[in-house]
Amino acid sequence: CNFLKEKSREEILEILCNGLAREEYRGYDSAGLGVDGDKPREVLYFKEVGKVAGLRKKIASSSVDGTKSFVSQVSIAHTRWATHGPPSETNCHPVRSDHGSDFLVVHNGIVTNSGELRLVLQKRGYKFETETDTEAVAILTKYIWDTQPDKRITFTDLIKMVLKELEGSFAFVFKSIHFPNEVVTARRGSPLLIGVKTDKKLKADFVDVEAAGPEDLETTNSLLVPPTQAKVMRTQSRAFMSEDGLPQPIEFFIASDAAAIVEHTKRVLYLEDDDIAHVAEGQLHIHRLRGRGDEQQTAAQLAST
Ligand code: GLU
Repeated sequence: CNFLKEKSREEILEILCNGLAREEYRGYDSAGLGVDGDKPREVLYFKEVGKVAGLRKKIASSSVDGTKSFVSQVSIAHTRWATHGPPSETNCHPVRSDHGSDFLVVHNGIVTNSGELRLVLQKRGYKFETETDTEAVAILTKYIWDTQPDKRITFTDLIKMVLKELEGSFAFVFKSIHFPNEVVTARRGSPLLIGVKTDKKLKADFVDVEAAGPEDLETTNSLLVPPTQAKVMRTQSRAFMSEDGLPQPIEFFIASDAAAIVEHTKRVLYLEDDDIAHVAEGQLHIHRLRGRGDEQQTAAQLAST
């Protein structure tokens, strides 16, 4: 979830646990979540093997301050069906890149070249704490970040570079202490959708496609993927201005299944394979492969809901 509306931590935890509980029917072996801490750049994790009810109990019996409120924040949660590494608290998502939580990720699916990536990253000195395939993605993100000399890369461009290295199927949500209040989500082969909730009526001011930037063509930093597989993306933006043109409280809910968010909004946009979406400051940007020709339709669908 990404909010541009004041909420207490207790409310946020409740939204996350309710969303997870609504996806229980799909089956899972463990559940976890990450929310902003009391200090800047701090993330609080709650993880439990078994049912979401167990996760709720763990939160209730913790000393977490539920009254702390946030005007804007990103929080992520996951029910895991283990493919790499047994169900355990350590292997539970969100999976982090390091103890400082530079990057954290939740993942549905399987990254089939995670073993190869793990070896490359271990050789470069990165330490793994889980047995998951997902951790190779979190640490790869940190590795690419660490190699950026001026740290001026956007969160989206960073994740684009990460995705170029991956094989397999996935739906990811990324959070980072380096990009507070921003969230990036991407899919290939696993479902993903974004719900938008606002009290005001939206003006359909879809901003059409921006030209692909040179960064979309580069794979110079690639560890594994040959440059010929570079993909050209273009960007679709929606400003979500209200009819009176004023900024508005707005909430975004990212989920793999509409059941998780339907109590909050019915205004839902389904992402497609290889889409990368970025949410921050009340705005949603979708980066989509060039030439598919259905961007307008997707925007129109959202405007008409
Ligand atoms: N492959 C990941 C893991 O084993 C994610 C599994 C899932 O889809 O929940 O941790």
